[in-house]
Amino acid sequence: ATYTMVDRSTCIACGACNPTAPGLFEYTEDGLSYALLDGNEGITEVPEELVEDLEDAVEGCPTDSIKMSDMPFHCQRVEAS
Ligand code: SF4
Repeated sequence: ATYTMVDRSTCIACGACNPTAPGLFEYTEDGLSYALLDGNEGITEVPEELVEDLEDAVEGCPTDSIKMSDMPFHCQRVEAS
């Protein structure tokens, strides 16, 4: 299984991750990214068909803010705007 969340403390709102993985990342009004699947909780399994997009997004993030793990994350939920 694969899980993802964004470290919003290091995200610089560059806008790269949504075009790379539109099914996985969206931005709040301030431009900071969050994981769409579960409001950035990182506890919802990434669908198999989106894992490749996720790997591309992780690679493309200039600040390494997109986290990927085979274990669920536990972090603050982010409300979508
Ligand atoms: Fe933030 Fe990284 Fe996405 Fe850019 S690619 S918006 S720095 S999470």
